[in-house]
This record gives sequence, C-alpha cells and structure tokens, in this order.
Amino acid sequence: MTTPLVELRDVTRSFPGPPEVQAMKGVTLTVNAGDYLGVVGPSGSGKSTMLNILGLLDRPSVGEYRLSGELTSSLTDDERAAVRARFVGFVFQSFHLLGRRTVLDNVLLPMLYSGVPRHEREDRARDALERVGLGHRVDFLPGLLSGGERQRVAVARAVVSRPRLLLADEPTGNLDQRTSGEVMDLFEELNADGLTLVVITHDESVSRRAHRRVRISDGRLSELT
Ligand code: ADP
Ligand code: MG
Repeated sequence: MTTPLVELRDVTRSFPGPPEVQAMKGVTLTVNAGDYLGVVGPSGSGKSTMLNILGLLDRPSVGEYRLSGELTSSLTDDERAAVRARFVGFVFQSFHLLGRRTVLDNVLLPMLYSGVPRHEREDRARDALERVGLGHRVDFLPGLLSGGERQRVAVARAVVSRPRLLLADEPTGNLDQRTSGEVMDLFEELNADGLTLVVITHDESVSRRAHRRVRISDGRLSELT
C-alpha cells in the first residue's frame, strides 16, 4: 500500500474565543497522490480552516496531520515553512497578486523560498506562464489583466515550484462562468499530470469536476458519493 499524501486523523481545531468556536470537529480524511478532491459546504462551516491546516498555515488543536507520511506536529515553524514552500501551492479567491510587480515577478517570487536554483528560475517562470496561456503577458502589471487572467497567473505562481499538493479556496469565486471554466480546465490538466488537488467551492459546476467530493458542515466532514 502506498503512503497517502494527506492524512488527517480525528482533527479538531478550536478557536479559544470567547465564545470558543470548534471550526473542525474530529475530521478524518485521506487524500492519495493524484487525487482530485472537491470540498463543499456552507459559509462558516470550516472549509478554509481545514485548508489552512492542510497547507501548514495552521495547526490542529487536537489530532494528527501526516503529510507524505510525516507527522507534521513534530516539525518546527521553520521546517513547516520549508515543507510548505516545496510541497504545497495555494490559489485563493482574490488572487493575492502583488500589484506593483510584473506578472513574471509574481511568478518568480515563490521560487526564492523553494530551493529552485537561481539560473533556472526565470525559465521556469516563463514556462509556467506559457502553460497557463499567458506567455504574452509576462511584463504586464496584474491590474491590467482580466480576472480570469489574474487567476491564471496565480495558478502559474502556485505550480512553478512543482508542488505535490495544490490547495484552492474558492478559486472561481470572483470569476464569471466562462473564465471559471478555463481555470477548471487548467486544474484538470495539472491533475492529469499528477498534481494532487483539493478545491473548495460553493459552485456545483466546479465541484462536479472533482473526482471525489466531501462536504463539511458545522465542522464535520462527510463523504459524498
Ligand atoms: P468557511 O471557510 O467554511 O466559510 P471557516 O473555516 O473560515 O469557514 O470558519 C469556520 C468557523 O471558524 C467560523 O465560525 C469562523 O468564524 C471561525 N473562525 C475561523 N477562523 C477563526 C479565527 N482565526 N479565530 C476565531 N474564529 C475563527
Ligand atoms: Mg472560507
């Protein structure tokens, strides 16, 4: 049996408050390498909290998280940052691009922390931008791009360090249907190349493209069939 990429075991995340909020309650989840998981659920149900834990931006209050078989609770903060930079890419609803940096610079930036040799960085960034169909926009500032183009830059930035796991939190929340479709096509290509995807979405047409779906409601996770 191969080691799962992601294993949450009985994870609870409480925010002390008052009032204390249990944003995740006893969540157990396994994601294998190459999976494409959709996460649905109402607003405030704990989806982003789970994504933050999967991406090592946050820690469980109770329970275990193993990434690629390694127990993450034993890592120091520096080790967590290093693992995050090498293993995990993020895509957010509101793109989170640096407005005063060119498209190319935005995509170069994560490689400063992920151990890509300096002389390879620019070629890698240009390749990633070609791949998302934006090779002709490398010198633009993000503000000159459409929403769909900005999100494709964010996807290029998320994958340029060749992570094992791509985490997306409402990636199409600010896009119209057609551009959403383009971003989803891109996700499918990346998954076909072996990237493991976890995509949170409110949008039924987006979640239907995942190969497996789970629902979170009130901090509890259930499998959808
Ligand atoms: P979703 O992404 O499904 O909309 P979240 O994971 O953002 O939900 O939030 C789940 C619950 O946890 C909500 O009740 C939210 O208010 C609470 N919560 C999230 N982050 C924090 C925090 N840093 N401090 C306190 N409460 C939080
Ligand atoms: Mg959220």
